[in-house]
Amino acid sequence: MSTATAESNIIKEAKKRRTFAIISHPDAGKTTLTEKLLLYGGALHEAGSIRARKATRHAASDWMSIEQERGISVTSSVLRFEKEGIKYNLLDTPGHKDFSEDTLRTLVAADSGLMVIDVAKGVEEQTEKLFEVCKLREVPVITFVNKCDRPGMEPLEILSNIENKLGIEAVPASWPMGYGQKFQGIYDVIEKKVHMYQKTEHGAKKAVTEVLDLEDAIEASSMSSVEKEAFEEEVMLIDDMYENMDREAYATGKVTPVFFGSALHNFGLDVFLNYFHQLAPHPQQYKTPDGVARDLNDGFSGFIFKMQANMNPDHRDCAAFIRVASGRFERGQQVTIAGNGKKVKMSTPHTLMGDDRQLLEDAYPGDIVSIFNPGSFRIGTTIFEKNEVKFDVIPLFTPEHFQKVATKDPFKRKQLREGLKQLSEEGVVHVFEVPNGVGNELLLGTVGVLQFEVVEHRMLTEYGVELIKTPVSYHCARWLPNDRDDVIEKLEASYSTHVTKDMEENPIVLFDSQYALSQGEEKVGKENLFKFKQG
Ligand code: GDP
Repeated sequence: MSTATAESNIIKEAKKRRTFAIISHPDAGKTTLTEKLLLYGGALHEAGSIRARKATRHAASDWMSIEQERGISVTSSVLRFEKEGIKYNLLDTPGHKDFSEDTLRTLVAADSGLMVIDVAKGVEEQTEKLFEVCKLREVPVITFVNKCDRPGMEPLEILSNIENKLGIEAVPASWPMGYGQKFQGIYDVIEKKVHMYQKTEHGAKKAVTEVLDLEDAIEASSMSSVEKEAFEEEVMLIDDMYENMDREAYATGKVTPVFFGSALHNFGLDVFLNYFHQLAPHPQQYKTPDGVARDLNDGFSGFIFKMQANMNPDHRDCAAFIRVASGRFERGQQVTIAGNGKKVKMSTPHTLMGDDRQLLEDAYPGDIVSIFNPGSFRIGTTIFEKNEVKFDVIPLFTPEHFQKVATKDPFKRKQLREGLKQLSEEGVVHVFEVPNGVGNELLLGTVGVLQFEVVEHRMLTEYGVELIKTPVSYHCARWLPNDRDDVIEKLEASYSTHVTKDMEENPIVLFDSQYALSQGEEKVGKENLFKFKQG
């Protein structure tokens, strides 16, 4: 094969892919929607199996024992489905109310976000946090307002809710006909047709749909004359908004197209899927820290965005998840680790279809490959086949929960440091020196409380260190620039502000209160206090 055809083949393959992650707050309907996307994508014949698998995961899989004990997913995996020649990689994120950096990092490997919102609750806390990462990366976000079959905010109200909470423009791409009990159809603003639905039992099969012209649909609907009039008015108001949507602003996450529906009853999913593959971008070029975009044809490159230890408790193994950024990945390929030049043979790559591992022969930009960590991979490691490149894509997320730890056994101080260093390199936890600390304590910081339990469990089982924990309550933290002693000095002058460093010498400041934060912002400027920091 000549190089020219091989190259164009990579672009062709990339264009077929849509790699996205669902961002939502627990209970908004992520699992239900995922399942319905698979149902409509033809990957499932009857909905129900993902939920069933969620319930039986406990028995069937050999994931970390914390997951087993609690029956929840600590880590995220990938679901793949193919529809009309488009290969979708859905990066799953944990649905538990607890929240971890793993969830946030998953977004770094996605080219777009699908934001699922409960029509009654609007934008909730976890969605806001996930959205911030999309905003940081300037990736497009498509919104699905779910549970429209239940009483909730009116459509215009939910649009304002999104705009006010997230500071983006919300543009309706479909519109519900009737709300709550009376929800019966979805107006497709491009086709100018209404999809009228009938419920199927438990929504296990695709909804029975009739596609009508707007006037006929209004005529056929069970809405009262007042409701019909209101619906007509709304449609007039929103009718050309989607057509006029600023595509560039959408592409960088400043505008979100909004679809309405009910994942449970399969209302609005057909309309959504008709547009989703057009809206969701195919794999984009990742940039190096100096802003150079890696051409998709430039040979294989990828980065590790997630590590998962002990998937099999019999072997102390650790899987690394790689997002393919450019080129063609092949089984057996020799790659170089950017930064240290080490060569690694990619001998047992897998793709994860949910919990099922399948041996992988090749992969293209947008795909996710999992491989047993040869020991030299870290979160954020770049690997490449030829044409050296080093990405800097995984930001340091600000920890929100803190705990001081020491070892019960004074002879294990060395293991304590070593174990925690290892876990921090894997991205499980941030480890800091205790500000003005004495003795052998270290300060741990996490995004989700559950991360502490993972640390405690792994320190005990893998390093034989039993931790003594002391709760500490900081209001919040901000990363600091590495080369600004003047900023650090100004912050250190206050009693309610504490500066420390992580194990990689990245400075961070901890504030005791909201007031201390505002004072700090005033002293050194908001621009020197980072919520996210490139590592
Ligand atoms: P997740 O936590 O975001 O994964 O949410 P789930 O998909 O597990 O859904 C949470 C609950 O909301 C479940 O009881 C679902 O049956 C229900 N649910 C999901 N989608 C809809 C919907 O469109 N309408 C209604 N009425 N309930 C829904």
